[in-house]
Amino acid sequence: MAGQVSDNKSTTAKFVPEDRKGLHKPNSVEWMLMVAGISICGIGSWAVAVGLMIFLGAFYSGFFVKPQVKRGLYFGPCPHCGATMSATHYQDELDCPSCRGMVRVRNGRYEAI
Ligand SMILES: [Zn+2]
Repeated sequence: MAGQVSDNKSTTAKFVPEDRKGLHKPNSVEWMLMVAGISICGIGSWAVAVGLMIFLGAFYSGFFVKPQVKRGLYFGPCPHCGATMSATHYQDELDCPSCRGMVRVRNGRYEAI
């Protein structure tokens, strides 16, 4: 194994941002609030204002507010076995689908754990 890779095995993982032109995609919480807002409207006339407010708030947040997290995928070779693997932006630890080795995603690199 000597000389194969350095002690802290890591490979470059290329970040590919999710292609999003125009409107953003609401997350599950925002979808839920939109549905909840509409349901509240059905309770009665007094609830329409409240329901509408929740709906519009979630709608606005979902489609027009930039997500704080840059969504996308990391692509790169597994530091354990070299097989190409991908990680979503919210994963910081995952196992390689080929060798089951644990990999940490950090600073745009895959690090062997
Ligand atoms: Zn692997």
